[in-house]
Amino acid sequence: MTKIKSINPFDGNLLKEFDSLSSSDMEEKLSQSENAFQAWKKTSMDHRSQLMKKAAKVLKEEKDYFAKIISLEMGKVIKESIAEVEKCAWVCEYYAENAADFLKAEPINLPDGSKAKIIHQPIGAVLAVMPWNFPFWQVFRFAVPTLMAGNTGLLKHASNVPKCSLAIEEVFIKAGFPAGVFLSLLIDSKKTTEIISDPRVKAVTLTGSEKAGAAVASAAGQEIKKSLLELGGSDPFIILEDADVEKASETAAKARMINFGQSCIAAKRFIVVEPVYDRFLEIFTEKIKSMKFGDPLEKESDYGSMARPDLAEELYEQVQKSVASGAKIHLGGNKPEKGSARFDPTILTEIPKDSPAYSEELFGPVASVFKVKNTDEAIKLANDSEFGLGASLWSKDVEKAERIAESIESGAVFINSLVASNPHLPFGGIKKSGYGRELSRYGILEFVNSKTVYLG
Ligand code: NDP
Repeated sequence: MTKIKSINPFDGNLLKEFDSLSSSDMEEKLSQSENAFQAWKKTSMDHRSQLMKKAAKVLKEEKDYFAKIISLEMGKVIKESIAEVEKCAWVCEYYAENAADFLKAEPINLPDGSKAKIIHQPIGAVLAVMPWNFPFWQVFRFAVPTLMAGNTGLLKHASNVPKCSLAIEEVFIKAGFPAGVFLSLLIDSKKTTEIISDPRVKAVTLTGSEKAGAAVASAAGQEIKKSLLELGGSDPFIILEDADVEKASETAAKARMINFGQSCIAAKRFIVVEPVYDRFLEIFTEKIKSMKFGDPLEKESDYGSMARPDLAEELYEQVQKSVASGAKIHLGGNKPEKGSARFDPTILTEIPKDSPAYSEELFGPVASVFKVKNTDEAIKLANDSEFGLGASLWSKDVEKAERIAESIESGAVFINSLVASNPHLPFGGIKKSGYGRELSRYGILEFVNSKTVYLG
């Protein structure tokens, strides 16, 4: 039987080892989920809202406990883990307040005088294949709308965060959700295809790499089941000549270093027009240098380690290859110690087109800084990517920025702000960043049957 290990990436210590589920355990979980669905789908929106408010309360009251699990298991600094748990409470409250309105029947009056309505009904068990980078938030932003819509949730979490997976199940149990409405499945990713093909599972959502996304979406496609993919990004952070350069540069450092750079929407390519380039680089570098390394459990730490040694190794390889093809190291660039998940924040400049820093996602604390002549070149470079998740655009002329936002190929553009997910705003990508939308009304409508009822 495969073991699933929880290892503290900051010091390499084994926290706990779990047995992965056997085939009979899996069968039991799937039938529990199906049975729970039959009752859950009939519950009132008001009842679901009450339970979801309780989930928010559990998260808020026990935020230190849950945050510590996150920090120990994937290396995020404790202040960010606490913020993550608080954000999960926010999404619970948001859908507790708004789900009934989002899902209410929509009447349609046809031109010939006849009438129809659209009703949004639950579909059954939705499987979520989730990553380790925001091990609570990524799951809650799937689970909350899914459960509020009357579906049940099955979680196959990343193998390096089993404690988070079980802790999330604990939140829903403590809040009083019926057994089986939300279930954590400790399984190897190889088992995922089998689960997707089970008739009791109706749809799948994945956040992670392109490779995992393609595998899961193919398995869902084979079964004619809906999938939603939230994949990587190599998001541009564009600074135009008329930007507030100080504010932009400081925000840029924050945007790159959030979660130690391991975020799909972290700014990764900094595209700066020539007249403000030197000033940007100076402030940006100083800001990153001022961030404090330390144990993730220390309140003062700004960064600790990456989530796994292999991720640090892979990132270093991308840096090395970029340098070999001509990129310059402006800061950091040191090789991580073998078997360690620690990484020195790095800034690359003068990046050629044929290097990983130009075309690949750098999922960690490495910033790629580009100098461009003007706005047109900035837009062209921003769009010269396989990805399209969230762009940040800086200019004091907001009307101009709004016009430029229309020509940027991405799922979102944030003007004079870093890109951040928010329950009120649809979230998702285009191109190889995936498809479908999470959060807001768009998110809850992804996994329902929007049924047309013609009334004559
Ligand atoms: P993965 O994409 O491999 O993991 C994400 C989830 O997918 C995990 O639950 C994983 O399970 C599962 N998974 C992986 N392969 C398959 C498969 N073939 N079939 C079904 N499920 C699968 O991410 P990594 O942890 O390996 O990180 C690698 C890179 O992915 C990062 O460097 C980054 O570029 C990207 N990534 C993007 C994220 C985002 O927020 N968009 C989040 C995390 C990673 P298991 O852990 O058991 O393999």
